Amino acid sequence: MKIDNYIDGVFIKPSSGEYLDNIDPSTGKIYGQIPKSNYKDVADAIQSAKKAFSLWSKLTSADRSNHLMRVADRIEQRLEELALAESKDNGKPLKVARTVDIPRAVDNFRFFASAILHENSEIHDVGDNGFNYTLRRPVGVVACISPWNLPLYLFTWKIAPALAAGNTVVAKPSEITPATAFLLSTILDEVNFPKGVLNIIHGTGLEVGEPLVSHPDVPIISFTGGTVTGERINKIAASSFKKISLELGGKNPNVIFSDCDFEQMIKTTLKSSFSNQGQICLCGSRIIVEKSIYDRFLISFIAKTKKLRIGPPSDPTTQIGAIVSADHKEKILSYIKLAESEGGKIECGGESVVVDGDNSGGYYISPTIITGLDMNCRTNQEEIFGPVVTVMPFDSEDEALELANNSKYGLASTIWTNDLKKAHRVANNIYTGIVWVNSWLVRDLRTPFGGVKNSGVGREGGFESLQFFTEPKNIYIDLK
Ligand code: NAD
Repeated sequence: MKIDNYIDGVFIKPSSGEYLDNIDPSTGKIYGQIPKSNYKDVADAIQSAKKAFSLWSKLTSADRSNHLMRVADRIEQRLEELALAESKDNGKPLKVARTVDIPRAVDNFRFFASAILHENSEIHDVGDNGFNYTLRRPVGVVACISPWNLPLYLFTWKIAPALAAGNTVVAKPSEITPATAFLLSTILDEVNFPKGVLNIIHGTGLEVGEPLVSHPDVPIISFTGGTVTGERINKIAASSFKKISLELGGKNPNVIFSDCDFEQMIKTTLKSSFSNQGQICLCGSRIIVEKSIYDRFLISFIAKTKKLRIGPPSDPTTQIGAIVSADHKEKILSYIKLAESEGGKIECGGESVVVDGDNSGGYYISPTIITGLDMNCRTNQEEIFGPVVTVMPFDSEDEALELANNSKYGLASTIWTNDLKKAHRVANNIYTGIVWVNSWLVRDLRTPFGGVKNSGVGREGGFESLQFFTEPKNIYIDLK
């Protein structure tokens, strides 16, 4: 599979003429080539988006909505092909790509295509003297940059609201998982999406991402990825006063009280620990359990984790697929070694796994549970972003909160209890942008999504996204 950039409605080779290898993590073999684009390609894409802005931004909401709905419909029609591509590119079980990633990309387009049909503008009345009315105008050319863990899902989560709000976009998927972003450009082509409105450029963060966010004709950036990258982009944006939304890393706590529904909690904790090989920013990686059920929890959690089936992503029985890349696999294994050196006990997993046959060169790690660590150690403070969790006991509600909040991150948390007042109290005092009580990853696209502290700046979702992707303009009319 050799893919190309999509600029001004045309598939274009990178100006360098060079390509990067794309590796299938389930086999470790090269299976495709992606453009090694650079600042010249970025400049062309921005130029095309700038040219398209005057037409696209002046379309009625209904017309923009129709264009976006056509993209959603076509993604849905090509769901199976997109799911296969996502699973091969990322290593995630095909079942997950088919039931989570690609359907969510459809929802992202439909949600924002319909949201713009239900917007109100504001009026601040000053009686007989006059009134203020506030218009919301698109900002211009948006840079949308996304990571590899939920490739099309997160790519479209930015692109759809940016376009719906009337902006044009230059979007860069992760160089590690470019396949479905390329397939999206073929969909734009099929549905005759207006040229230049959405440009998709492939390449590395330094050669494509950085020139994109630094460009003077890009006044607004929407970024999802690691905290270190986010910090770098934030510095670039600050010096030229760009609008910025950053969705960054996490080290999410699961707080489990003894009065919870044990079976439901264990079932969900298994998912919140190891779904997508633990490579979801919302996965709970620090599990804090009330001492009175700590032993029972560990026995049950370890037994169920050991039964998870590690295997090739295409196998319908696989529950744990491949880690996204060889580098990332090494990073995760190095954290498991670190945990041991910090005094942690590996209760299960902790190893590289070789899957039989064609997949023997793939990147697999057994789901890992670690106990015996202090909350201040590096294993508990740094994001691992793999199938690795730590478990720690607590005595009191205050201690649970202290442990949960002992992190530089603040993306999401889960609380498990059947005591209504305690649930509200803890939810109120836990410092994360998202809290799930007796559940995990229940998403409603209308709600604010994002984190506090080093987990990010700003919120995505619903009208939060539409507000971010527009600038308010207040106009006063004097009636005196
Ligand atoms: P990353 O920061 O390495 O890369 C993300 C994207 O940024 C990629 O497209 C990359 O090419 C690009 N990039 C890299 N350097 C850049 C630069 N200097 N300028 C501009 N762009 C640059 O992150 P990753 O490894 O792809 O993704 C994993 C991280 O993403 C984890 O930390 C995870 O927690 C985070 N994440 C956060 C959320 C959220 O909603 N908060 C969701 C998913 C993933």
